[in-house]
Amino acid sequence: MAPPRQGLIFPAPSPSKKRMSDTVVSLTSSAAPAAIRQDIRHDWTLAEIQAIHDMPLLDLVHRAGVVHRAHNDPADIQRAALLSIKTGGCPEDCAYCPQSAHHKGANLPRERLMPVEAVLKEAAAAKANGAHRFCMGAAWRKPKDGPDFDAVLEMVRGVRGLGMEACVTLGMLTQAQAQRLAEAGLTSYNHNLDTGPEFYGDIISTRTYDDRLQTLEHVREAGIGVCCGGIVGMGERVRDRAEMLLVLANHAPHPESVPINALVAVEGTPLEDRPPIDPLDLVRMCATARIVMPRARVRLSAGRKSLTREAQILCFLAGANSIFYGERLLTTANNEADADAELLRDIGVPVPEVTLAAAE
Ligand code: SF4
Repeated sequence: MAPPRQGLIFPAPSPSKKRMSDTVVSLTSSAAPAAIRQDIRHDWTLAEIQAIHDMPLLDLVHRAGVVHRAHNDPADIQRAALLSIKTGGCPEDCAYCPQSAHHKGANLPRERLMPVEAVLKEAAAAKANGAHRFCMGAAWRKPKDGPDFDAVLEMVRGVRGLGMEACVTLGMLTQAQAQRLAEAGLTSYNHNLDTGPEFYGDIISTRTYDDRLQTLEHVREAGIGVCCGGIVGMGERVRDRAEMLLVLANHAPHPESVPINALVAVEGTPLEDRPPIDPLDLVRMCATARIVMPRARVRLSAGRKSLTREAQILCFLAGANSIFYGERLLTTANNEADADAELLRDIGVPVPEVTLAAAE
């Protein structure tokens, strides 16, 4: 397995392609001292990140909260919707994923690429339901140029036309494809590292860590925001989690978006028997990601359904500032939208009344 490419520098997006999420946010009266506000680094060491991760939990959450409030508005918790636009039959062998053609026991029906109009109808419904960002996932190793890729470009244009951020995850991209996505107005490209470089080979054998980093470079070079995170609970060590954060935190600039997922152990996948993680592991990951990447949108993603309201609130205190909204996350169940709206309102985050009817 290739070593982490620490120090790899992604070029900054061009100013003309500034993302909505780059908007300067207000600081609260509890903002931290300037020394903490300015603490954006790209020279972290593994020992430092592990030490942060392993701090006493109350100290960790407090420190993450201070960093979070120094750089972000704590009431700004973004709601994103995620739709599988092409499902199943993926040639990759990611051990956690029921969409892999290698895991036949998962019995996931294959579905071709959805029509553009159907996707945009879902996006409009998500917007009416309070989502600010619409993410579209296609189970491809890499997209082929041709009608399907052209349709995805049309989807991106349509979602942007609705006034939403648009994110896609399509597998490995060429530089030319990244450029075309940028020209269509894509806000962000999701391409997760999943775990640390040492453990990566235990989870995926059909592509390398460097393949992932290469696509991320293409995305950056095209001026698209980077959405990149990982999964906890796959049998990795804390060191592997810290190694993944090290790779992300030492990129300059940091990824704008860092999804933190808890494994959803799906029957028929090689990880079907993995026990659920302790929710506090997720709190630690959110907090550590917040401290080492102070301005990234830390997204509490898959696995949230197994968290209590209180565990989710701890994640928000620790710096998580986005959730996926909607009852499905690609192919696995997610929290009920009404319950999410209630949770956010209960912690003081303004959420408009659901207006799904408006989208019909
Ligand atoms: S995670 Fe993505 S790349 Fe991996 S098998 Fe699933 S759909 Fe394919």
